[in-house]
Amino acid sequence: MDEFSFIQSIKQDTYRQPSLLKGVGDDAAVFRQSSEDVVIAVDTFVEHVHFSKETMKPFHIGHRVLAANISDIAAMGGRPAFYLVSIVIPKHSTTIERNELFAGMRSLSDRYKMDLIGGDTVSGQEMSISVTVIGYVPQKKARYRSDAREDDIVFVTGTLGDSQAGFHILNNPGKYSDAFYYIDKHRMPIPQVEFAQQLEVIDRVALNDISDGIGNEASEIAEASNVSLYLYEEKLPTSESYKQFPLELQEKWKLFGGEDFELVGTVSKDNWDLVQDTAKEIGIHVTEIGYVSHYRNNHVYLHKDNQLVPLKKDGYNHFK
Ligand code: ADP
Ligand code: MG
Repeated sequence: MDEFSFIQSIKQDTYRQPSLLKGVGDDAAVFRQSSEDVVIAVDTFVEHVHFSKETMKPFHIGHRVLAANISDIAAMGGRPAFYLVSIVIPKHSTTIERNELFAGMRSLSDRYKMDLIGGDTVSGQEMSISVTVIGYVPQKKARYRSDAREDDIVFVTGTLGDSQAGFHILNNPGKYSDAFYYIDKHRMPIPQVEFAQQLEVIDRVALNDISDGIGNEASEIAEASNVSLYLYEEKLPTSESYKQFPLELQEKWKLFGGEDFELVGTVSKDNWDLVQDTAKEIGIHVTEIGYVSHYRNNHVYLHKDNQLVPLKKDGYNHFK
């Protein structure tokens, strides 16, 4: 398949975003600016660094890379609208693989009525895919990491460690309970867009999405806000059957595992009921896991077995 027919094959027949004027097919896409603020993020996924074909099929790779991006938009309180895909395709890859990759992105983008409005296609040695997502957020409602304040409640959505548990299952075949639940959490995470968007009525919420583990993400909030976050180890939410994994791994995954694409945030006590009601309304879990204090600023501490231990930001760091 040549580049032209490939682009034709991934081009949407119709577009769903009302602000779009020109999608795929010209030198660049065009959309008209509305009164909302624009949020934009990019993420790159490289074979052997971020994924391997042993544990992910092309469909999952597509889903996963777009999910990571949408999760960044969610963590800003935004509504994803458009995406652009720059892809390096190995010469030996098949048409089916390429189609599946885009099908994985499409199935997730359908959920949010997002439009694929452009990209770039080149061939190379290893597969690499870079996705840019553009979204909208009501004016002054972008959710910054720097917005945590003393006495806030620290909360997290969903459960932690599931993605790494799924990765573990894929790499260590055996008998597990809820194996497919964990594998799906790893290969096809669903970002918390609706939840973050519905917090719109609240004036101030600090948000960060959990791509690198809660230790790392909480610490980014602490540093940006110049506060400290104190978390309770026993309050960190995990799935019912998570206890089946070795204790040491449970601990490691829930604190530093990452890729769960849940949201960690802080909000004033006055607004905590509203946050809980919002979660209930859309059918997700939100858990209070700690508090914000000025005591010993810029760090994250963990209350664990009646001790207070500094939580290192040991998520994945690609410069390490
Ligand atoms: P140009 O040479 O002007 O950059 P291209 O031939 O690279 O044009 O692309 C033609 C059209 O196809 C453009 O609208 C571009 O955004 C789109 N496109 C190319 N590759 C992709 C891709 N991987 N995903 C989505 N759109 C793509
Ligand atoms: Mg081009």
